[in-house]
Amino acid sequence: MTFTDERSPKFDVVLTGGRVMDPSNGLDEIADVAVRDGKIAALAQSVAVRTNQYTIDVSGDLVLPGLIDTHAHIFRHVTGGFGLPPDLVGVNSGVTTLVDQGGPSCITLPAFREYIDKPSETQILAFLSCYVIGGLEGHYYSDLYGPHCVDVDAAVTAIQKNRDIIRGVKAHAEIGGYSRWGDKVVRLAKEIASQASVPLYIHLGQLWPLAEKDSPTGGDHILPYLAELAEPGDVLAHPFTRHPGGFVGDDGKVHPVVEDMIAKGVKVDIGHGSHFSFDVARRVLDAGIMPDTLGADMHGYNTKIENSSPDDEGHLFGGDIPFGLCSAMTELLALGLTLEEIVPMVTSAPAQMLGIEAPRVGLGVGSSANISVLKDSCGRWRLSDNDGVKIISDRFLEPKFCFLGGKKFEANASIIPVPEEI
Ligand SMILES: [Zn+2]
Repeated sequence: MTFTDERSPKFDVVLTGGRVMDPSNGLDEIADVAVRDGKIAALAQSVAVRTNQYTIDVSGDLVLPGLIDTHAHIFRHVTGGFGLPPDLVGVNSGVTTLVDQGGPSCITLPAFREYIDKPSETQILAFLSCYVIGGLEGHYYSDLYGPHCVDVDAAVTAIQKNRDIIRGVKAHAEIGGYSRWGDKVVRLAKEIASQASVPLYIHLGQLWPLAEKDSPTGGDHILPYLAELAEPGDVLAHPFTRHPGGFVGDDGKVHPVVEDMIAKGVKVDIGHGSHFSFDVARRVLDAGIMPDTLGADMHGYNTKIENSSPDDEGHLFGGDIPFGLCSAMTELLALGLTLEEIVPMVTSAPAQMLGIEAPRVGLGVGSSANISVLKDSCGRWRLSDNDGVKIISDRFLEPKFCFLGGKKFEANASIIPVPEEI
């Protein structure tokens, strides 16, 4: 119990009685967390406070380091309706850091900095698109994404000059692109990543139609190329994709080279989006593959926002099932993963992938006060994936509020899913 002591220091706020989980500091206990001047000022089973101290009772809640979403699409307007308002998926959804996956390019990065990063409350990072035009309209036009649209030197220069924002390179290794250009794009993207010494984030799962009807449809011919190309720290995305060309091959089994790549140090990001399939997730997890990070992959074509134009709604696909980073955590719980496995996927592991180091990570005393508080409820809910497959969850995580640099933001975004209780 928190006790009162008039000699105690005054804090800006004290969160009392929550389950504090901080994988980077090996912490999982019921504790109080005190914030002062934008930093964690105290963390203990019971922090002594003065009578009029501003406290928030978070007993029963999860108190986590600020959540990091490794896969967002927030380059509004420039990427058409594909980009979502950053703070809607960021701080107002309980997420303190967003990584735009491949929206900005060497050409459009200055606009990303000026119109997305600067005005946003959320901490914004990005993986640079390997293509000179970036992720326009969610990569609708396949001809814009061939090797002729990659400028290695321009991309390397853009990364070198913008390391405060850019932490990697985004490319696609998907069967529509391979049917046109083989592995040329991925090789050029790897060249950019190597020269700039950043990780390469590789999209798997079909995005574009095949060039010829009889082109091979599985990922079986793509993954062996990647096994040779990917280095430790590079990231394979969408392991649970319901689209062809992912981890699961034509024979319905996880391709054997995936395990080899992971053993080598290649990382796996869930990249939920409209890809997520409970059936594929089960197969991949049953094969012993545990993803490293959980990107929500929300964008304007799978997330309906208020005041979206009829034009944007025409793009909506994936069954328009509301989701978010915290509901994706709930889905992993329902698939049998533990909180101890899931929390690092949205905190310490993405921090490592992005090169975010102390004092900007974790809840240690003296760290930036980046904290996400989640309500952890027990009950019975029905969860749906984009194939319409439904599973039952007896737990539901939802964001309540977060602190970024000590500033509090309520999780009041209109897009936060309301679970179907049964
Ligand atoms: Zn995406």
